[in-house]
Amino acid sequence: MKILIAEDDAVSRRILEAYLRKWGHDVVVAKDGAEAWNQFQREDAPRLAVLDWMMPELDGLQVCSKVRAREHAPFTYILLLTAKGETDDIVTALDAGADDYLTKPYNAMELRSRIGAGERIVRLHEQLETANAALKRLAQTDFLTQVYNRSAIVHRLEEELSRSARSKAPLAVYLLDVDHFKQINDNFGHAAGDQALIEVARRLKEQCRNYDVTGRYGGEEFVVIVPGPTRQEVEAIGERIRMAISRTQISADDLELGVTVSVGGIWIGAGAMASVDVVLKRADELLYEAKRSGRNRVIAAGWDDPSDFLAETAHSGSGI
Ligand code: GH3
Ligand code: MG
Ligand code: MG
Ligand code: MG
Repeated sequence: MKILIAEDDAVSRRILEAYLRKWGHDVVVAKDGAEAWNQFQREDAPRLAVLDWMMPELDGLQVCSKVRAREHAPFTYILLLTAKGETDDIVTALDAGADDYLTKPYNAMELRSRIGAGERIVRLHEQLETANAALKRLAQTDFLTQVYNRSAIVHRLEEELSRSARSKAPLAVYLLDVDHFKQINDNFGHAAGDQALIEVARRLKEQCRNYDVTGRYGGEEFVVIVPGPTRQEVEAIGERIRMAISRTQISADDLELGVTVSVGGIWIGAGAMASVDVVLKRADELLYEAKRSGRNRVIAAGWDDPSDFLAETAHSGSGI
């Protein structure tokens, strides 16, 4: 395991380093508390540290406190080495955030065992972090289509709207609904319908750029969030989304299905403060218009501020 040692005394430092290397660890060395703190701020910072208490610049306790005060940083196990062995000192060390302490002069075998105990805790944390990340992914993912689920896409939309308002960058939001999807289910069965939804989601994701976000909003409704386009680009992007679904037939089991979508697209101009509810409601109205005017088409509107809808344009699809 990668271990950081911080010790200002050169001889003690070399002895400590030699032990740790002998026991099979990768060692990162700091000559004082400031160097140790620099190491902790690196992306690949060690997860286990042996810190001397008395050091120049920052002492071991101060480093401990700074490490514990970090937000969103992975857990780091800290073993404090100290010449101070009084109960009060030990309390001070543990209260500052040390996980364990060892008084100098230490016994090498005891150091080895205490590092082993720390290693167990760090491994456990790593397992928890991995499990948490997997659970988070699972909680955000639609089981059938593997894109964001409803609550996750709404949350992402919230984030993108505030980012757009903050950085005064425009945002386009598309709500799309598969046309006559009930007929696919009725004619070919629910399993074929599921296959079609999986493929629709796959195509949506495929046509997305890195910063675009796709989610399943409901049964056969999807949301695509596209940061940054100009007002002039909004219809063309909607068309790209529509064509991604309708351009070629979708295979479901042995069937080839012609699947089309209707799309409502809303452009939120730079700095327009719009809420999720208002944006989705407006996108839904535009989607409804696309349905009413024949399906397999995009209807988009621009929105410089929430009360100001620009001209709306309809694009007929070529498929029907
Ligand atoms: P329109 O063009 O007006 O949207 O017509 P439509 O048939 O798509 O609309 P409607 O809302 O009547 O039908 C949607 C259907 O989607 C009904 C529902 O059974 C089906 N559906 C919803 N979720 C799923 C799913 O997960 N799998 C499958 N196979 N069908 C689903
Ligand atoms: Mg010292
Ligand atoms: Mg629907
Ligand atoms: Mg539908």
